[in-house]
Amino acid sequence: RTPKAKSTSSYVKVAVRVRPRNDRESGNETAKTVVKPFQNCILFDPDVEDEKVFFHNGRMRQVPSAARKRHQNITYSYDHVFSESDTNSEVFSQTMTEVIEKVLEGYNGSVFAYGATGAGKTHTMLGRGNDPGITFLTAAELFRRTQERSTMSAEFQVSYLEVYNELVYDLIESERVPLQILDDGQVVSVKGLSWHTPKTPDELLDMLVKGNENRSQSGTVVNKDSSRSHAVFTIQLIQRELVSEEGMECMEMPRSRYSKLVLVDLAGSERAAATASTGARFKEGTNINKSLLALGRCINDLVEGKGHVNYRGSKLTRLLKDCLGGNCRTVMLAAVSPTSLQFGDTKNTLEYASRARKI
Ligand code: ADP
Ligand code: MG
Repeated sequence: RTPKAKSTSSYVKVAVRVRPRNDRESGNETAKTVVKPFQNCILFDPDVEDEKVFFHNGRMRQVPSAARKRHQNITYSYDHVFSESDTNSEVFSQTMTEVIEKVLEGYNGSVFAYGATGAGKTHTMLGRGNDPGITFLTAAELFRRTQERSTMSAEFQVSYLEVYNELVYDLIESERVPLQILDDGQVVSVKGLSWHTPKTPDELLDMLVKGNENRSQSGTVVNKDSSRSHAVFTIQLIQRELVSEEGMECMEMPRSRYSKLVLVDLAGSERAAATASTGARFKEGTNINKSLLALGRCINDLVEGKGHVNYRGSKLTRLLKDCLGGNCRTVMLAAVSPTSLQFGDTKNTLEYASRARKI
């Protein structure tokens, strides 16, 4: 099931997105640029030229080398790097083409937004106002592509759930009761989860926005658990070949394709930061989000080419089991903040994303 090392880079694409500075981050001393995007690389904690000079008696002087702050100056490379001026639709068109093709061909797929709280995950997945995110753009594209074909019929359904405190909740149905995950060895499903067929893009967008408001992580409610919710939007596609009269005479059975794409706005990664920066395997810690940790372990297992990947470590990985590894296509969108205010979180995210790329 696990792809071999050589051919594997096509299974997982990793992009890093640096968000623009906010008001708190602009202009002050603590907010120096911590990442410098160029082409497909990121320079973390770069040597900044203007830091090497200072004013003395009204004149610019070189800072003596002994007094200079040592910078880590680490280069990471990814499949794509997006900088602050890139829009959601640019991120979409550069990262999602292949996974969309594969889903139309009948494969499963997964898209994750990973990163610390405040780094831009929800902006990337959900978007806002007239700048819809990856989830909407992807669903709308899949919908459009299946509608414009005449050789296949398509059944297009979506669901939206969250994993919060290791419990699964429907984000569209108003009643908040924990739901059970079912796994028959082939297909993973959630008992009682509501499925919907939006008729128009507006209806789809409306569902996304309302669902997001039902998340434990609501934009307006500030509580310390707010960053622990994983929002999982699932698109299920059943495509059937339309059989012509002649085909019927030959008794040819119509072929069908079943595929599933999950788009996940993950919980804040600051809680799983423990060992990511050392490159060591993820270790359990008391206050670390269990699902994020288990996802890290699954990715580690896949990176290391293990035949057996343990998906049973958490609700999230059990849910994503049939959309991660094997022939599935995965896109990881790692969101980072631009300045040194989030130095540690940013480094952890860059390391995590770098490991995910080795799958
Ligand atoms: P997260 O979901 O990772 O906690 P958000 O997506 O909510 O972070 O982003 C934090 C803040 O930064 C929000 O106010 C959001 O609108 C803003 N933001 C994030 N990414 C971008 C971007 N690429 N362009 C403009 N604003 C952004
Ligand atoms: Mg968010």
